[in-house]
Amino acid sequence: MTLDQTRLRIAIQKSGRLSKECQKMLKGCGVKLNLREQRLIAHAENMPIDLLLVRDDDIPGLVMDGVVDLGVVGENVLEETVMERQAQGDAAEYNVLKRLDFGGCRLSLAVAQELDYQGVKSLEGKRIATSYPWLLKRYMDSQGVKFKSVMLNGSVEVAPRAGVAEAICDLVSTGATLEANGLVETDVIFRSKAALIQSANALPASKQAVVDTLLPRIQGLQQARE
Ligand code: ATP
Ligand code: ZN
Repeated sequence: MTLDQTRLRIAIQKSGRLSKECQKMLKGCGVKLNLREQRLIAHAENMPIDLLLVRDDDIPGLVMDGVVDLGVVGENVLEETVMERQAQGDAAEYNVLKRLDFGGCRLSLAVAQELDYQGVKSLEGKRIATSYPWLLKRYMDSQGVKFKSVMLNGSVEVAPRAGVAEAICDLVSTGATLEANGLVETDVIFRSKAALIQSANALPASKQAVVDTLLPRIQGLQQARE
């Protein structure tokens, strides 16, 4: 199965916190999907749209490299990827078509309940575990606090208990996971929602027409939920 260049390519998360809402949104736009498991590509049956089902972390790069035309991704992952790519000298251009009304969360600093936390200066010289080293560094630089970054792609919340960091910088929605791990949220460093983004390259008119059909429908879905 290959990608047809004439069809609009949209990257969405294969499975995770954004995938259900994404699929619901597309369905609400009238896109009939044939999503079989383990597939990388799903073709819409009634519109010239192909979906790429991938890890959310891959979505910004796919859009910025022009591999896909659109993507749905958390602003946290988007912003982190922009900083990482800029540091590496890679292109990091994209357009936000719409900020979406799902995927809401915050990237926060949290410390062990026992720690005597007197503001972010308390983390001077300490180790902070995170999957978002660039967003964390930007915040800590803005506060003038030096720290050591411990990069973890999962299980960030257990780092303090495991003795590999004094604090964490992780995504929070309700705070239940933090509490379960004996941590307290101290500083919100980034607020995020899902966003629909488009590659910076101009689309051929036929694909742009599909985008122009989808956008007002997404707008309508969001208005109906307000
Ligand atoms: P993948 O396998 O695709 O890499 P993942 O484990 O990195 O998945 P998820 O946990 O599914 O990602 O989260 C995807 C996105 O959902 C996050 O990047 C964020 O934008 C959003 N999100 C909303 N609430 C939360 C939350 N409580 N914790 C984590 N992410 C959340
Ligand atoms: Zn991910």
